[in-house]
Amino acid sequence: MAEVVLITGGGRGIGAATARLAGARRYRVCVNYRSDEASAAAVVADIRQAGGTAVAVRADVTRSAEVERLFAAVDAELGPLTALVNNAGTLERQCRLDELDEDRLARIWAANITGPFLCAGAAVRRMSTRYGGKGGAIVNVSSAASRLGSPNEYVDYAASKGALDSMTLGLALEVAGEGIRVNAVRPGLIHTDIHALGGEPGRVDRVGPGLPMGRGGEPEEIAESILFLLSPASSYTTGAFLDLAGGR
Ligand code: NAP
Repeated sequence: MAEVVLITGGGRGIGAATARLAGARRYRVCVNYRSDEASAAAVVADIRQAGGTAVAVRADVTRSAEVERLFAAVDAELGPLTALVNNAGTLERQCRLDELDEDRLARIWAANITGPFLCAGAAVRRMSTRYGGKGGAIVNVSSAASRLGSPNEYVDYAASKGALDSMTLGLALEVAGEGIRVNAVRPGLIHTDIHALGGEPGRVDRVGPGLPMGRGGEPEEIAESILFLLSPASSYTTGAFLDLAGGR
């Protein structure tokens, strides 16, 4: 049976590296994106160039109607879903908690909590043996922030990843008997564009040298662990967290 993976936010950063690696491992890949169509198209082109199968589908994962349309596109264009990577996520300008307002909190919860919940639900309805599916795997892209708290930077982001950790555990136990494994990776400081959203594009280069391994990580290093958690190599692993933070 062909493995079919949906990677939310698969056009850039960690999601793009994961999509390329999945394509190379002969998964049929759906690269979801919200707005950056060119980047998603470039990832799809790379996968096809290497002999793989991929499609790009625009959808904002915070909107349930768009999530339904996204999963329907996977059904129609790639076949039965066997894997989901809840990778899409965001953060905003570094500040203290006492400077956060209601609108920002709503945006962070929507992108980093509601999106993964909606996508996980849609994936379970397709993969669970309870619904006639053949099982599968879900990997949530959490963050080292969930255990560090991100003081003076973005406690809201850290807390949203804490919620994702709780969801990972709860859902893993809910569907453990239905053929679905649910795990999470918790990357540390990785070289992607996300740090620019916080107002500090050079954050990894500033903090990296002070980390135990003396450097930030690359998206490809995270992709390897995500693919491990999707694969049969981790067949007895569920509700687990892989800390990918260079010892941080
Ligand atoms: P990135 O380069 O900024 O990429 C984020 C991706 O998420 C983009 O493809 C973006 O789509 C997509 N996205 C954001 N909101 C979306 C929405 N509502 N619907 C659909 N797609 C959406 O970030 P990254 O660093 O690769 O981050 C990927 C994941 O890793 C995130 O969950 C992040 O929290 C986590 N993480 C990153 C680090 C790090 O240091 N980089 C560390 C720990 C955890 P568009 O391209 O269309 O804008």
